[in-house]
Amino acid sequence: MPQSPPQTADVTRSPSTGAVADRLKFNGDNTFQRELRRRVEAHFKRNGHGQRDSGQMYLKTAIILAVFAIAYVLLVFVATTWWQGLPLSIVLGVAMAQIGFNIQHDAGHQAYSERRRVNRWMAMTLDLVGGSSYIWQRKHAHLHHTYVNIDGHDGDIHLGALARFSPAQKRHWHHRWQHLYLWVLYGFTAVSWHLHDDFRDIATATIGKQRFPRPRGKDLAVFVLGKLVFFGLAFGLPLAFHPLGTVVLFYAVTAMVAGLLLALVFQLAHAVEEAAFPSPDESGRMDTPWAIHQLQTTVNFARDNRVITWLVGGLNFQVEHHLFPRICHVHYPAIARVVEATCREYGVPYHANRSFSAGIASHYRWLRRMGRPDAVPAPLKPAPQT
Ligand SMILES: [Zn+2]
Repeated sequence: MPQSPPQTADVTRSPSTGAVADRLKFNGDNTFQRELRRRVEAHFKRNGHGQRDSGQMYLKTAIILAVFAIAYVLLVFVATTWWQGLPLSIVLGVAMAQIGFNIQHDAGHQAYSERRRVNRWMAMTLDLVGGSSYIWQRKHAHLHHTYVNIDGHDGDIHLGALARFSPAQKRHWHHRWQHLYLWVLYGFTAVSWHLHDDFRDIATATIGKQRFPRPRGKDLAVFVLGKLVFFGLAFGLPLAFHPLGTVVLFYAVTAMVAGLLLALVFQLAHAVEEAAFPSPDESGRMDTPWAIHQLQTTVNFARDNRVITWLVGGLNFQVEHHLFPRICHVHYPAIARVVEATCREYGVPYHANRSFSAGIASHYRWLRRMGRPDAVPAPLKPAPQT
């Protein structure tokens, strides 16, 4: 994965992923991006840090995987009552989300290690927790990261008729209440991923409205094995020790916790009032350069909260992640200072909500606005000072 997707090249067919997209071109003026990249590179040179293979990251991986394994073993083999099972399945759900945010997400972006093989193995932790690393690569690393918040291209803002996140999406009468009911549906994010989404994507060979090649050879083997391991861990093994009802109940709690966390961290970055939802012109051109598009459509939150930063794998610094997806997330807080200063100097937006709750409130207001019959997006708010 390159540091950033191509800005002016024809992206009808990506050579790296083979995903097929409509022809979309960003404005080719990359003066800002070149300068920003130069300054961030200089920051790493000055500090003598590598951008990947951080000791901190390896330690964090060991902690998260250990918590996941311990919670699973205690839940399946030791717990005998609901009051033991409930906290364990909540911890397991948090650990599953953390594997996604921290380990798989960095590895899938080639930001975990300089070695491809390490990235590949770490990316497969997603298959362990029920997602497909193959489909993620196309859905997230290619489509979402290149075309953030562009309807019809960014699959992450496509929930079918269930939700309207963008002014470009058709409004249905039930969207009037989406700011109330979507919170419940977010809980089903992981369940839907486990039981439906990957299989539908493979069956239809499309992600959202975009076609993609089905996995073959080694990729197909990882997909099938991954599903077997996941279903074995989630249902097969527990059913050997517990009744069906108990297994389904604790699977549901675990998956709902993981799903809610995954959905919220995503929504706070892109589906909030501060984010833009631009559309291409009729010839498929975006008037902004790619880097500025990322800054218009992406919002940070709770940047001063170290606990949140640790838990969500730096995804409260989504601005930095979108601009530099190949840099390990443990470096985001440091490079955020460089990014923000450069944005101010160039008069480019840098959006951040002060806290997690401010992000939630902004997401709620955005959903309510998009659900109204006369929904017109408000002009972008200036970046709040944090
Ligand atoms: Zn990403």
